[in-house]
Amino acid sequence: MRFLQSLALLLTLIYTAQAQHPPGSPTPTPIPLPSPTVKIDRHRAAAAKIIGAALTSDRAYSRLAHLTDHIGNRLSGSQNLEHAIEWAVAEMKRDGLDNVRAEKVMVPHWVRGEESLEMLTPVARKLQMLGLGNSIATPADGISAEVVVVRSFAELDRLGEQVRGKIVVYNVPFTNYGATVVYRLQGASQAARYGAVAALVRSITPVSLQTPHTGAMSYDPNLPKIPVAAVTIEGAEFLQRMNDRGDHPTLRLKMEAKFLPDAESANVVAEIKGSERPDEIVLISGHFDSWDVGQGAHDDGGGCIVAWEAVRLLKELGLKPRRTIRVVLYTNEENGLRGGNAYRDAHRAEIARHIFAIESDSGVYRPEGFGLVATAPLQVRANLQEIAKLLSGIDANRIAADGGGADIGPIMLEGVVGASLDVEGSHYFDIHHTPADTLDKVNPRELALCVATMAVMAYTVADLPEPLK
Ligand SMILES: [Zn+2]
Repeated sequence: MRFLQSLALLLTLIYTAQAQHPPGSPTPTPIPLPSPTVKIDRHRAAAAKIIGAALTSDRAYSRLAHLTDHIGNRLSGSQNLEHAIEWAVAEMKRDGLDNVRAEKVMVPHWVRGEESLEMLTPVARKLQMLGLGNSIATPADGISAEVVVVRSFAELDRLGEQVRGKIVVYNVPFTNYGATVVYRLQGASQAARYGAVAALVRSITPVSLQTPHTGAMSYDPNLPKIPVAAVTIEGAEFLQRMNDRGDHPTLRLKMEAKFLPDAESANVVAEIKGSERPDEIVLISGHFDSWDVGQGAHDDGGGCIVAWEAVRLLKELGLKPRRTIRVVLYTNEENGLRGGNAYRDAHRAEIARHIFAIESDSGVYRPEGFGLVATAPLQVRANLQEIAKLLSGIDANRIAADGGGADIGPIMLEGVVGASLDVEGSHYFDIHHTPADTLDKVNPRELALCVATMAVMAYTVADLPEPLK
C-alpha cells in the first residue's frame, strides 16, 4: 500500500514540478478558450483592499517566525508537529474563524536516529549525508562495502550482478524535480534487485554547498529492503572521480532509522462560512508537517501561513463571501499523504460541493499566479483567467497550463478542480528538504504577495454570484 501511495505522491509531485516550468521546456500552445461568463468589475474594490492589507501587514511573517523559530521542524509523529497543530487551532479561534477544528489522522512515525557516512579507503574521510525518509537501518556497526557509481538506471542495468555486495551510488545530475526524484524514490529497490547492500543518492538539487537533501523513498514490496541515504553533489562527484580512476573506494554507512507505531496527528481545518451558499466550498491549503531538518520554512510552513492568513485577512476586512472558504493545513504530506487521504475520506459526502481547491507547496517566493490542472473544463479556465486579471497589478495573473498538489490530489481524483499557487521557484530546490530551509530564506514582501494572491483568488471565486463553470 505504501508503495502505491508513494506512486500517487510521485505523480502529484510531478504535477508540481511541471508547474515550475523547467528551463528549456517548450511554451505550450495556447488553448482557444471560450469567453468568460464571470464579471470581475464588482470585485475590483475588494481585490484592491485585500492586496493593500496584505502588503501592509506583518502578521504572516510574524506567524511564520513563531512556527519556525519557536516550534521548529515538524516531521509526522513528532512533538513539534503536534505543538504546531495545537497552536494553530488556538490562534485560529482567536482570529475568529468559523468551525476551527483538528480532524484526527493516524500518521506513520519514522525516526532518523544517529547516522553517518565515512570513506574507509583509499583515504579516511567523513562525508555529509542524510538518510532518506522511510529507509530501514543498517546493522549497529554499519555496512562497509566497496562503491559502484552509476549515472542512470540504464547504467545500473548494464552492470547488473556486478553490483552484488556493493554500495550503489546514483550520481544523477538534476534536470527537473520530476525527472530526477525517481532515483530518490526507487533507487534502493532497483539496486537491491541486483544484490547491492545499500544505496546512496545524489541530492535532488541543482546546486549545493555541501548540503544533503532528504525526502521520501519507497520500497518495492517484491525486492529486498536495503538502507538508503542522500549524499551531497560534492560527495557524489568525489565518489565518481574515485570510481572512474579505479580507486575502488570503500565506505561505511551507519543508520539507526526505524518506524515506531503510528502516531495520532490531525488536519487543521477552519472556515469563513459563506453568506448565501455555505455548503459550497473553496478550499485553500498547505501541509503542516515538514522534514526533520531545518525549519520547514518554505516547505511548507510558508504555504500553510499563506492559506491561513488569506482567510484571517478577509475576516479582518469584514469581507463575507457568498460561499464558504475553508483552509486546511494537512498533516503527513512528506512521508505518507495520510492527511490528504483522510480529508477525502472524512468529507466524501461534500466532495462534489468543493468548487475549487488550491494548494500552496512550491515555496513562498514571488507569486506568478496559479497552475490549473490540465483537465479543468475550458470554461473554468477562461473564468479563472478573467478573475486573475484582478492580480495583474502585482504581476500574479498567470494561469499556467497545469498544476495541482499532493494533498489535494485525492479530492482531485474525485473530480474537484485543483490548482497550485505558482511562484518564481528557481531557487526552491536549492534548499528543499535540507537543514537550510530556514526563515532567513523567506522574503517578507514575497510572502505577503503570496497571501494577497491566494486571498484575492479564493475570495473572488467564493463570492461569484454566478457559477464558476
Ligand atoms: Zn512540501
